[in-house]
Amino acid sequence: MSRRGFIVVSLSVWLGAIAHGEGQPASAADEASKAVVIRPDRVFDGVTPEAHAGWVVVVRGGLIEGVGLPGELSIPDGPEVVDLPGTTLLPGLIDAHSHILLHSYDEANWEDQVLKEPLALRVCRATNHLRLDLASGFTTLRDLGTEGAGYADVGIKRAVEQGIVPGPRLLVATRAIVATRTYAPAGFAPEWDIPQGAEEADGEALRKVVRDQIGRRADVVKIYADDARGPTFSEGEIRLVVETAKTLGRPVSAHASTLEGMRRAASAGVSTIEHGNGGDLEVFKLMAAKGVAWCPTLTVFEFSARRGGEKAASESPRLRQARGAFRAAIEAKVTIINGSDVGAFAHGEAGRELELMVDFGLTPTQSLMAATSVAAQAIGLGDKVGQVKPKFAADLIAVEGDPTGDIHAVRKVRMVMKGGEVFRGK
Ligand SMILES: [Zn+2]
Repeated sequence: MSRRGFIVVSLSVWLGAIAHGEGQPASAADEASKAVVIRPDRVFDGVTPEAHAGWVVVVRGGLIEGVGLPGELSIPDGPEVVDLPGTTLLPGLIDAHSHILLHSYDEANWEDQVLKEPLALRVCRATNHLRLDLASGFTTLRDLGTEGAGYADVGIKRAVEQGIVPGPRLLVATRAIVATRTYAPAGFAPEWDIPQGAEEADGEALRKVVRDQIGRRADVVKIYADDARGPTFSEGEIRLVVETAKTLGRPVSAHASTLEGMRRAASAGVSTIEHGNGGDLEVFKLMAAKGVAWCPTLTVFEFSARRGGEKAASESPRLRQARGAFRAAIEAKVTIINGSDVGAFAHGEAGRELELMVDFGLTPTQSLMAATSVAAQAIGLGDKVGQVKPKFAADLIAVEGDPTGDIHAVRKVRMVMKGGEVFRGK
């Protein structure tokens, strides 16, 4: 079938031609130079609040070449045209807080995963996790710690980049850093040295550990600024981590749920704070003033509440606390980015975070931005992904319906493209 000189193919035929084998991305170089025109019902570009009806997107060489109304675009001769009626095309989603080396605590609790699962088993599982996360529309993950799996994330990232396994783009943290005896596994007799789920360091020694992790290819340095009992590192220690990482061009992400942990991390200049359910207006104002973004991880709170047997997960104390924090964060105008802590709960389900952010007070469009352009900016990829804009990576997803009106549409993924290559298969 041809229309206006285009070769029009159905999505299924096109997918069949472009994707080589189940779960494999198309990778042939000859496909890379061929222009593809994608025609959904509308395009959400990641930045403009309204979706653009009737827009098409031209993709070539792994990049977005053009986007707009067909009459306003220069469309190369003889492109492949992919019609996606009934869908909205938007930037591939970003989860700024994942753990590809964890699987749902419904299957095995954290401690058993860290202490009893062989590294090779964990890596094999991780390849499935990548596939599930990509299929659910996530084309970029910032993976915040291997939880006892060493530097496996560095090798997995390379495997994705080399096309050995399909997966989202990855920013990795490697082992993450904790103050001595403040993490887990914990609770053993004091005479035993139990392996920890992150690397321990304190005081001046933090400088060496930060350099060591970055030298082993950490894209981001993850620290745990507090635990359930309160803050762990001093503000000076966090500042040392931030300064050392900054010298080497790396941002710092801080786990913090308590007010004092959040205050110390924000004051010391971290880039993002994870969880933050204990935050109040004052600390979110401090974060906003310091340009620190917040990654609320609501999905893992909901998951934990359900696992804990609480009848109405939405009424759990921690979710109630997080709801209050979310209101304060909106009032303080802190930058909120999408991050779910996927891995603690099942991979492939991270889209739930966008729904919860709407439930907690963002508009659907704000939630989508938090998972696209806003997240990209906060994690240092703002000029590469997160927008449907010329010269950006062709990381695009098509979802059924219109997620700018009904956020649940974001869970109905029809197509996933990463770097111009269509991924299929779960
Ligand atoms: Zn986490």
